[in-house]
Amino acid sequence: MYGIIVHGGAGGTSPLAEEGCRRAAEIGMDILRRGGSSLDAVIAAVRFLEDSGDFNAGTGSVLRADGKTIEMDAVVANSSGMYGAVAAVRDIKNPVLLALALSATTTRFLVGDGARAFARQMGLEDHPGPTPRALERAAQLRALLMGAYRGGTLSTVAPGWDPVELQQYGIIPEGDGALFYARDCDTVGAIGLDRQGVFAIAGSTGGSGLMRLGRVGDVTADGAGHRLGSFGGVLATGVGEAIMARRGAEQVARLIEEMGFAPQDACAHVALKVFPPETDVGFIAMNRNGVGHNANCPMSFHYMTDE
Ligand code: ASP
Repeated sequence: MYGIIVHGGAGGTSPLAEEGCRRAAEIGMDILRRGGSSLDAVIAAVRFLEDSGDFNAGTGSVLRADGKTIEMDAVVANSSGMYGAVAAVRDIKNPVLLALALSATTTRFLVGDGARAFARQMGLEDHPGPTPRALERAAQLRALLMGAYRGGTLSTVAPGWDPVELQQYGIIPEGDGALFYARDCDTVGAIGLDRQGVFAIAGSTGGSGLMRLGRVGDVTADGAGHRLGSFGGVLATGVGEAIMARRGAEQVARLIEEMGFAPQDACAHVALKVFPPETDVGFIAMNRNGVGHNANCPMSFHYMTDE
């Protein structure tokens, strides 16, 4: 078998997101059919989603708590030992290409200003600035927070939200220690297996909406947001802090590798039985026999395989 599976984020779906995942999977599958590498296929798929502006990755990334900054994380890897990751990087259009460029150097993981400087050295394109959708989502989220506060219903804060920072930017009034649950989704990722038998993964995210500056989610955390080996690959999406706390991708990978679960059953078990229903989480996975996908909430995805 060879093929590709793409996700467009846990926590929501739409015809636009499903169409984007389908198109991304087709782009990757075309490369695989022609004998191209799984690495090229997943990078082309994720780059397409980053550039579409319709997902929380690359061009469409959501805004941080200050209401203007975009910070993005991305990872690329293959089962032959290639690896590159970048986190909390600003101002660049395609974090997935930056992670790829990094994999050809002696550094494997670069963050913040250093990652941005490296992108400039590599001549990578600048981010075009927040999309109207990202600005609108930030405004909606702020309004939701303010409204919930005024209505006195704020009772939980999603992991990763920082009440102090939300107060600093005037999103919630000072002195409020309340917690809140709401998040932006649409992170993207792809897993591929090529005709040479090599697996590859690529993941890219703008994080979660209105999160604190410098916050890094699960996408670049091995065992949490991703896991890759000769058994296959796993990618997670959803609330990054919960995925890191429970090492989501590692749990799915172990069921496949050590317990002989099919990817579909492994994704379902971890998404539905390990994570609490109130914490949005989803997984995609692939081994040499097939693909799997499951989430405890809506999640867009698409896969294509062939013999
Ligand atoms: N897991 C991502 C993060 O927390 C967000 C997502 O998957 O939508 O950064």
